[in-house]
Amino acid sequence: MVNYPLLLKEIEKEIQPLFSKGKVANYIPALSKVDPKQFSMTIQLFDGTSYGVGNQNKAFSIQSISKVFTFTLALKHYGKELYQRVNHEPSGNPFNSLVQLEYENGIPRNPFINAGAIVTTDSLTSIHKDSTFEHILNFIKKTSNDESIVYDNEIFHSEMANGYRNMALINMIKSFNNIHNPIDDVIKTYFKQCSIMMNTQQLAQSMLFLANHGINPLTNEVIITESQAKRINSLMLTCGHYDASGDFAYKVGLPGKSGVGGGIVAVVPQKMAICVYSPQLNSQGNSLIGTKALELFTTKTGLSIF
Ligand code: GLN
Repeated sequence: MVNYPLLLKEIEKEIQPLFSKGKVANYIPALSKVDPKQFSMTIQLFDGTSYGVGNQNKAFSIQSISKVFTFTLALKHYGKELYQRVNHEPSGNPFNSLVQLEYENGIPRNPFINAGAIVTTDSLTSIHKDSTFEHILNFIKKTSNDESIVYDNEIFHSEMANGYRNMALINMIKSFNNIHNPIDDVIKTYFKQCSIMMNTQQLAQSMLFLANHGINPLTNEVIITESQAKRINSLMLTCGHYDASGDFAYKVGLPGKSGVGGGIVAVVPQKMAICVYSPQLNSQGNSLIGTKALELFTTKTGLSIF
């Protein structure tokens, strides 16, 4: 049996030298205000026990981690049909890249790069119209067993005012008829979902269904089918860290998803879910210390999928 409290203390100590190495995201001005020297991590087990280190109550902007929730909702509703609009291949390009999209006719490589997540959010907008964001937020509240989760209006507006690349992406996709709703509605929902605030405890709980064949082990609620859970985990492994997905799989060996807010979630199948937060990013936009902490976790415990 792993001594998790001791393990987390060891990890916290070993990541300290990395605190000067990364950079907080600043292309969304409101994100640049966070204290760069933060680190927290939560390990959430199926029986409700959790272990943590750092300030696990500190909420941060989940950013691209929201793409896991929207993809889950879209896959649940559309099934395989969704892949006609968004592929399931790694992109090998930055999360906000435009180039591939043009020569691949507006079909994004996967739902975890911005282009793919925007299409996914559009697919949900076709179902839920004006209440799409509320639907996404309610789903997140359900999977994390926490009704108190909100979004940050300042971060939302900051991204709205500076989201030139995302506007370019959505316009490009629309030109290929792969956006079915008004672009303003879809992009607003996308920016709002990115500005949802959660802490490592809430995020670790919210990922448990992916570690447990689609069933939330704390409530026994079936969230998605076992086969769909497998697909989502596979995509997290191959695409969850954009052009650093290979590096993350190589170092950590777990399905994971990062966000430019500094969070990373990771799934240990049939065992637990983990969330780590540290806002300094590497050059691919993933938490530098978060990646290291997860690498240390799987190296020290042997708990990877390989
Ligand atoms: N809201 C961010 C964006 O669209 C999300 C990017 C990310 O977390 N990688 O640019």
